Amino acid sequence: MRRDTKLIHYGRRPLPGPANPPIERASTILHDTMSTFRDAKKRRETDDHVVSYGRRGTSTSHALSAALCDLEQGEACFLYPSGVAAITSALSGFLRTGDHVLIVDEAFHATRTFCDEYLGQMGVDVTYIPWDATELTSYAQPNTKLVLIESPTSLTFKVMDVPALCASARKLNLTVIADNTYGSGWLYQPLALGCDVSVISGTKYLSGHADTMMGAAISKGDATAPLRTHTLRTGQLLAPDEAYACLRGMRTLSLRIQRHAENSTRIANWLAARPEVARVWHPGLSDHPGHRNWARDANGVNGLLSLRLADGLNVDAFVDSLSLFAVGASWGGFESLALALQPKQAASDHDHPHVRLHCGLEHADDLIEDLNAAFLRLHNR
Ligand SMILES: *Cc1c(COP(=O)(O)O)cnc(C)c1O
Repeated sequence: MRRDTKLIHYGRRPLPGPANPPIERASTILHDTMSTFRDAKKRRETDDHVVSYGRRGTSTSHALSAALCDLEQGEACFLYPSGVAAITSALSGFLRTGDHVLIVDEAFHATRTFCDEYLGQMGVDVTYIPWDATELTSYAQPNTKLVLIESPTSLTFKVMDVPALCASARKLNLTVIADNTYGSGWLYQPLALGCDVSVISGTKYLSGHADTMMGAAISKGDATAPLRTHTLRTGQLLAPDEAYACLRGMRTLSLRIQRHAENSTRIANWLAARPEVARVWHPGLSDHPGHRNWARDANGVNGLLSLRLADGLNVDAFVDSLSLFAVGASWGGFESLALALQPKQAASDHDHPHVRLHCGLEHADDLIEDLNAAFLRLHNR
């Protein structure tokens, strides 16, 4: 069956019944006898989808985790209250004091903050690697345990050579965790490219309506046991209402991403031809860093792009002049967003302020007219 069809049928129960799995709210699960109670406790040791206690999820979150496991071609899927919780849990599950980790240097800012502040405190050493690293031998130490990648990278969307990096990691016996929020289970499958864990912030495209926070970590092979232990011991879970909202959003994941992609591709090309724009970052542009990796490993783009304005143009004034693109953090909802980002020291392309756009599901002509009007206002200031 094609993935588009599966999205519609995930969680379907025997008929007659509702099209979406209902919200099952529970802490305690009641039993008639000690024997069925003990049986549930025993079965949950080998089956993550036994309904035994609210902290282990109910049928609502189990339907969502089964869907994500299938989309990402994993063996297990664990759910968290946010994308950041998923990333920090995935990292913590594999790391002990004295370990060393490699992290792509243009990783999501909250990921970097966690690594700098908490991993350091835990006695874990961090080395940042460039986005185009494929051979890890020169970065690895005897105590290196894992690599955290994010492709395309945050802010400038550089596309890593994931299969080559994973091949090198395997030789060095390193676990590879991928932040796949950009692809969101749809545009590429990190586990199929050689990664051990795929982490997704479902706050973005999975739920897709700017009203839900959630995160997921999908694993295969040897990575599953430590991830499961850490997730259970630290009491992580996703509330049933949020699981419901996420699965409902996923019904239209394929259609939404297709429209986000059409809009961002049209706008990226339009911006690239504008004299007010010095540079556009969008993995669909043929001169984009890592475009060939993307053409080989992925099946489309999402609604994100970044741009640098020509010298002398003010990014805040440009963003303030937009009206269909509201100013806001995050992305992946149905609406267009803009954010002016000031330079960061760490990553090479961040030496100039730039603008990140999330192209929503509006009509592309309207979005382009909005951008055009903002450029006119910049000139008339
Ligand atoms: C948004 C985002 C996160 C964090 O997700 P939250 O659900 O906001 O906690 C992690 N990684 C990437 C790449 C993101 O864009």
